[in-house]
Amino acid sequence: MKTLRLYYDNAYLTEFSGIVVHAEGNRVALNQSAFYPTSGGQPNDLGTLTFEDTAINVTDVTVEDDIVWHHLDRPIPEGAQVLGQIQWDRRFDHMQQHAGDHMIAGAVWQLFGGVTIGLHTGQEESTIDITMPEGKTHLTDEETAQVEKLVNERIQHNDPIRCWFPDDKELSSLPIRKKPTVNEHIRIVAMGDYEMVACGGTHPSTTGQIGPVKILSTAPSRGNMRLTFLAGMRAAEHYQACHRCVREIGTLLSADVHTAPATLEKLIQANAAQVKDVQSRLSEATLHMIRMSKHIRDGKFIYACHLPFADAAAMQQAAKELIAEENTLLLLSCRRDGGRMLLFARSRDVDVDMAALLRKTGARGGGKPDFAQGSTTEETVLDAALSLL
Ligand SMILES: [Zn+2]
Repeated sequence: MKTLRLYYDNAYLTEFSGIVVHAEGNRVALNQSAFYPTSGGQPNDLGTLTFEDTAINVTDVTVEDDIVWHHLDRPIPEGAQVLGQIQWDRRFDHMQQHAGDHMIAGAVWQLFGGVTIGLHTGQEESTIDITMPEGKTHLTDEETAQVEKLVNERIQHNDPIRCWFPDDKELSSLPIRKKPTVNEHIRIVAMGDYEMVACGGTHPSTTGQIGPVKILSTAPSRGNMRLTFLAGMRAAEHYQACHRCVREIGTLLSADVHTAPATLEKLIQANAAQVKDVQSRLSEATLHMIRMSKHIRDGKFIYACHLPFADAAAMQQAAKELIAEENTLLLLSCRRDGGRMLLFARSRDVDVDMAALLRKTGARGGGKPDFAQGSTTEETVLDAALSLL
């Protein structure tokens, strides 16, 4: 027995009575129901069926062959009379997202010729998959603003939203946006004079109840465009969170919402210049400290030096500069990860295998004969290397 779906005529019905006509384990079908089953991208309702003064939770609602199944956390026998109650805040939120879907889909079609191929109302964000002309997979910021403006103007206008089942003659004369996916019992939803499409979902009775609509992004998805958006209280709460964030950033920067981006950009540039300056001074100081350690053995210039303030990059840069000079040997270390990083290098005219020398000291690491790097926890490793030379 097909379920009489009470939400078709009245999406605002939250309480109804029904009789259990099928019971299979923990799921029941009623003669009539206001519970919306997951379908058409809109999630199911939740609520309770009260039987003999006990409210039993409806944990899921599905539809099979026009029968709406209520999945329960305990069974109810066939023939039972029940009182159904729907969680209204969840349903109304879904109505806002779903009707927002229609408004955006209609606007993208009218403005850019994009054809909607899929809808999904998520528990946080909702998405619409759209095939755009010429394989476009996103909207520019200006195009997004254009869609938002048109949709929010139409919402503000508070136009009526009407749902009905036309006969075949009327159906053939209706200017519907998209060919219906079913052949019989086609339900039409019309919003103002700009959106008309076949739909079995739940909608508010006027566009004003959708509340604000905000598009979050458009991005490629399997060759189409996926548009992500929020409607109603979700959009209002998102605005609250964004405003709080911008206000906190503004306080940190001593700027307001309009000047914060430029202020932040200046701060990032000033910071980058400072970092560059510090790196340059560090390189100079590192080179200077290494040169101070110079001594001569057998006509070769040996630099053996621990650099407690330098980082790996400064040490490597200084090493490259020094081994460009003749007859040069470098035994360097700096702090890293609670131990020491080692850099043993030489100029081309010196015949010593620096990688082999590094390993002979017992340190970990290796590299080329003229440029080797490693690590150790031993503080005496440079003295060890000097005596091995
Ligand atoms: Zn709909």
